[in-house]
Amino acid sequence: MRLYCPHLPGGPAQPGLADRGPVSVEILAEEFGYAKNVLRARTGDGVLLFDGKGRQARGVIAGILPDRLVVRIVEIAGSMKESTLSILLLPAILKGQKMDFVIQKAVELGVARIKPLITGRTEVGETRKLDRWRKISMEAARQCGRCLVPPVDGPETFRRYFEAGPPPSGADGGIIFWEGGGAGLKALSERLRGAKRIAVAVGPEGGFSAEEAGLAAEKGFYVATLGPRILRAETAAILSVGLVQFLFGDMG
Ligand code: SAH
Repeated sequence: MRLYCPHLPGGPAQPGLADRGPVSVEILAEEFGYAKNVLRARTGDGVLLFDGKGRQARGVIAGILPDRLVVRIVEIAGSMKESTLSILLLPAILKGQKMDFVIQKAVELGVARIKPLITGRTEVGETRKLDRWRKISMEAARQCGRCLVPPVDGPETFRRYFEAGPPPSGADGGIIFWEGGGAGLKALSERLRGAKRIAVAVGPEGGFSAEEAGLAAEKGFYVATLGPRILRAETAAILSVGLVQFLFGDMG
């Protein structure tokens, strides 16, 4: 079983940790409930703990108390599941559970970070869901074997984000998928070859306006198409991460 444990002991990978005597950590609160009630953890079970920052540990359940698990750490190691490509997903906030879905799938597909944007046609100004989105990111990472929990940033308006800096901040390139048309990804793959960090913007149910696509282009984003059919926003978000991961990351 995999459990989230944000505070693993020690520094970087320590393969010989067990030689230096037993090191234990405690699993509390929600993660304790998940281990006990959902996974039916038993003393002596093997566990994999991940810290959300890229490290994991092999351990054994040494004890189950009324409110916590005690896990004896056997070995600490790095993670091998992170993509060679760092994808920053910039999704317009979607209504209801569609945003939850996009976050869950984007984490499974290996994004490094998610920054929700409020665009001109965003139908919700929903920012209260941040904690929920972060929990979804953790659960998706836990499920798919990642040790890194992609951070979900607080939402910002599209305009602020693109006007503020010279985005893509820290990225080698950015792509905005626009239903109004743009370059094909195959053509762009030449120009983005070798990129290690790519930002990907996808619009809301009502789409991006031409002004928004123009502003992103002004800031160096490539305007790209996903083909002749108009996809639902959540389909487009998931597909675009998959295609970018395939072309430039570790899915190919
Ligand atoms: N309501 C709009 C469609 C919005 S689709 C309309 O009818 O025109 C939601 C988002 O998904 C878009 O803003 C875009 O980012 C992405 N998207 C959907 N289909 C696309 C396509 N064929 N090419 C590029 N982006 C697309």
